[in-house]
Amino acid sequence: MIQVSRNISRGRFPITLATSSLFATLFADLAATPEFALSWPTPNPAFSNGKGLASFLQRTGPDKPVASGAYGCVRNNGHKFHEGLDLFPIKRDGRGRAEDVVFAAMDGIVRHVSRTSSHSSYGKYLVLEHPAVKPALYTLYGHLAEIDAEIKRGSPVRIAAPLGKMGNTSSGYRIPLDRSHLHFEVGLRLSDQFQGWYDRRSFKTPNRHGNFSGFNLVGFNPLSFYDHYKKKSISSPLAFLKKSLPIVTKIRVRSSFVPDFIKRYPSLSRPLKLHESPKAWDASFAAHGLPVRIEPASGKTPTGKSPYLVLSYDEAADANSRKCRRIISSKGQKLVPAEQLTVYLEILFRP
Ligand SMILES: [Zn+2]
Repeated sequence: MIQVSRNISRGRFPITLATSSLFATLFADLAATPEFALSWPTPNPAFSNGKGLASFLQRTGPDKPVASGAYGCVRNNGHKFHEGLDLFPIKRDGRGRAEDVVFAAMDGIVRHVSRTSSHSSYGKYLVLEHPAVKPALYTLYGHLAEIDAEIKRGSPVRIAAPLGKMGNTSSGYRIPLDRSHLHFEVGLRLSDQFQGWYDRRSFKTPNRHGNFSGFNLVGFNPLSFYDHYKKKSISSPLAFLKKSLPIVTKIRVRSSFVPDFIKRYPSLSRPLKLHESPKAWDASFAAHGLPVRIEPASGKTPTGKSPYLVLSYDEAADANSRKCRRIISSKGQKLVPAEQLTVYLEILFRP
């Protein structure tokens, strides 16, 4: 167990840790209604002090809007999706390198640590899962300069525990030092058997990240989540999903595979009855393709060539997100899952 107090006694992060503990306490105090505790992942107090986006979001360039560091259709004039928040540092050393420590957003378990920058567009990154909350969210911390030596796969971490140092690591594209930031994601994981899907695609590089490849992780808007938490308008992550992530499309899927998604997130499904072995599933997705409910189909199994049948699609609810992440498209008169959603459906239902 990585104890906050152990770090204090070692004196490795005395100042930043004190700051982080303060935030954890601050948020915990606010959490009279919420049944869980959430802590900001960086030492910047701007969000908890109610300051605007410009005081914590890292824009993609000096001439770019502040919102380019936010979640959603914020890149390339709204045509490219950004699946998390980019948070800038508030402390730098003499050479301009970020000194901010990055902290765990909730109590959790270290699931993945990738210390080789060139292995991912996230650079050096780590993923936590949070089994104590419902559903058991993941959080991802990307572009780190270094990851604390104690952060190992399988270790439990406490809320606000230090994880590493903010940086600008990445593969494939260069993040200039003055744009060092934490890429922070919160969301749900599609599959425990992601490798099967990866193997069927002819990718040039091996999957070095197991079930914690970005393909297998679907983030929602962290800022909206923190906002609701701060205002005490949600009691759990489940309440957040229900309140702020309405269903955009519902798809019937012909598959006799029981998706591990429903075992990992029982609050997003219903328990199977004894000897029940569904031949089809109804899967509901929010904007950007976040799966929010999967349960055995309540009607006929699709019999066509495609294993997918679009049961409903709320085009108005999808208006903002479809610009950068189309999940439904039309084929003649018919609605069909678009490429991105097809990938999610394959990962979920075709291990
Ligand atoms: Zn980012």
